[in-house]
Amino acid sequence: MLRLCEVLSATLQRPLPIAVVGGEEVPSFLPRHAARTLVFVFQQRSSSLFRGALRRNHYLTLRVAGSVPALVRYASDRPNCRAQAHQLVGAVRQCNPVCLFESHFGKSNAFYVPLMEAKPMAKRARGLRRRHDANTKQIARLSARVRRELSYLGFPSREWTVPRFQDGARVLDVLIVGGGQGGLAIAFHLKREQITNIRIVDRNPRGLEGPWLKFARMAMLRTPKEVTGMELGIPSLTARAWYEARFGRDAWKSIQTFPRTAWREYLNWFRDVLDLPVENEVEVTAIGPSGDLLLAHLRHGQRVERVHARKIVLSTGIEGNATWRPPQNLVAYVPATRYAHSADNIDFRRLKGKRIGVLGVGAAAFDNAAMALEAGAARVDLCFRRAEIPRINPLLWGHFAGILAHFGELSDLERWRFMRHMLEPPQPPPQHAYWRCLEFTNFHWHPNCGWRSVRDTGRAVSVETETGSFKFDFIIFATGTETDLSSRPELAPIVDQIALWRDRFTPPTGEENDELGSYPYLGNAFEFTERTPGAAPFLRRLHNFTYGAMPSLGLTGAAIPGMKYGVPRLVNGLVRDLFLEDAARHYEDLAAYKVPELATLESKYDWISGLDGDALADIGVAAGAKPPRRKRLVS
Ligand SMILES: Cc1cc2nc3c(=O)[nH]c(=O)nc-3n(C[C@H](O)[C@H](O)[C@H](O)COP(=O)(O)OP(=O)(O)OC[C@H]3O[C@@H](n4cnc5c(N)ncnc54)[C@H](O)[C@@H]3O)c2cc1C
Repeated sequence: MLRLCEVLSATLQRPLPIAVVGGEEVPSFLPRHAARTLVFVFQQRSSSLFRGALRRNHYLTLRVAGSVPALVRYASDRPNCRAQAHQLVGAVRQCNPVCLFESHFGKSNAFYVPLMEAKPMAKRARGLRRRHDANTKQIARLSARVRRELSYLGFPSREWTVPRFQDGARVLDVLIVGGGQGGLAIAFHLKREQITNIRIVDRNPRGLEGPWLKFARMAMLRTPKEVTGMELGIPSLTARAWYEARFGRDAWKSIQTFPRTAWREYLNWFRDVLDLPVENEVEVTAIGPSGDLLLAHLRHGQRVERVHARKIVLSTGIEGNATWRPPQNLVAYVPATRYAHSADNIDFRRLKGKRIGVLGVGAAAFDNAAMALEAGAARVDLCFRRAEIPRINPLLWGHFAGILAHFGELSDLERWRFMRHMLEPPQPPPQHAYWRCLEFTNFHWHPNCGWRSVRDTGRAVSVETETGSFKFDFIIFATGTETDLSSRPELAPIVDQIALWRDRFTPPTGEENDELGSYPYLGNAFEFTERTPGAAPFLRRLHNFTYGAMPSLGLTGAAIPGMKYGVPRLVNGLVRDLFLEDAARHYEDLAAYKVPELATLESKYDWISGLDGDALADIGVAAGAKPPRRKRLVS
């Protein structure tokens, strides 16, 4: 179940001061406004004031600007809810609110009915509102510009894939699994290539695709703000164009990298302005062959739908071929309440006053340490095996066209060597993440401090390290992902047939790397390849646009800078395969093609005179207009 408190805490970069529990519904306005407001959510089991009164999924939201309450939300269709909510409204009025609204949420929008006039003294709130209105207009203008520019680039406009049917239903040309940035960019590119018989599904609710509002806990992205790619070269669709419209040009100049929550907001806009049909809360649970096609099982709540597709693209992110799990040898004897992985939902409020141990030295280690410190942890000790905090990020070195576009054309040995250099050293924490922790005097970091064992002592956990022992109340493992295709349920039926690097390549002595060897060995367009040649030809229909593509194709799937060359590479491969497979049908189509370009052998006068109103409109002649006059012959 979605933990709303996690989403909000992460969004606000600090814990919420009032108890908040999870809900299955997230108000659509949150990502838009949360950066400058606080949101308190009361729900049936969390608030003593409303315990028992609210039914499941109906909750009250009290939103405050600064520390001043601004909005009360409740399920207005439940009479007892309403009565309880009015009690809250009364309480809120006493807090000198800026204004109060009752909010109503429709399928696609929300509107607010004022319960109390905005106070004249609330200048700041009025200023914010004015700025918000102006920004909304800028975004609307930008959206119109995107649509206009796309209309300039509409050629070729003909849908061309050959329909296929299975069990009475049209077979999908492409099923995209994952509606994060990768899935959106792929869908957009396919649309431009006039492949429209596609579906995009994501198991998360709308706006919560990807890590951004879940376990990404940094304020800013690490990627340079100038990065482009998913907009496919259309300037009005860039993240910068959106950011300037949303926050102003000066705001753009003042940031070094993109704010995390703004990135999520940009993705929402990208999806909407391009009208990309993402189906949320639909999970792909299994993929396998079905005759000449692929068959996917799609779970919508309790219902399972079977869908045939010619192509399936996995755009399932960093963990698309992997799992986030703490080192199993360390947690074997520790109760689950004592630890979390950095990719888990962590209720940081519970860490107040506690001694926290963090294992890891990358960005996630520092982000999680900072969250614990900001929540009031008594002390945070960040431990790592290495002698120093890493400071070089080889992935940033790779931000140039040669590597980004053509890594896949290197020999196996070259790719292996490049990747060892890029992936073996841990990625350093970004500067801002490091400084965020350093603001706290109760933050300590320990090099040469790999953990040997973790033991539960009842009142705490005792950690033995290479350089001494610690007692912690709670541990966060920021140990990244472990590549393991078999951990992905959707791949379970076919995982044994997929070739991994270790099946295809033997590194020279001294250059071995088990982790790299467990990545899938992909073809040129991200397609899986067969472990035993000829045994699983259906794998050429399954494309893996995830972080798992790294050793085969470089920084492409699951990385913002990788999209500029990765998405066209993938989509060109899909277009090529779909076309070549039907080459014979296209040839038949050509042979049967009978649409005359030379419409008539009559004179223009006679031809137009014989057309009816609709046909005239088709060739751009207004009904009732005089037919062209015949030229006189001069003898
Ligand atoms: C904490 C963190 C910070 C990062 N910071 C940066 C950064 O600063 N710069 C940068 O370039 N990159 C960064 N990345 C890497 C990368 O940009 C992100 O992971 C990004 O979200 C990848 O986009 P994606 O679309 O490939 O995958 P995601 O955004 O992860 O989207 C994948 C989607 O697939 C869905 N899904 C998965 N399995 C299924 C299934 N079986 N059925 C249906 N849906 C499914 C998920 O719900 C998810 O929404 C970061 C990653 C993390 C985890």
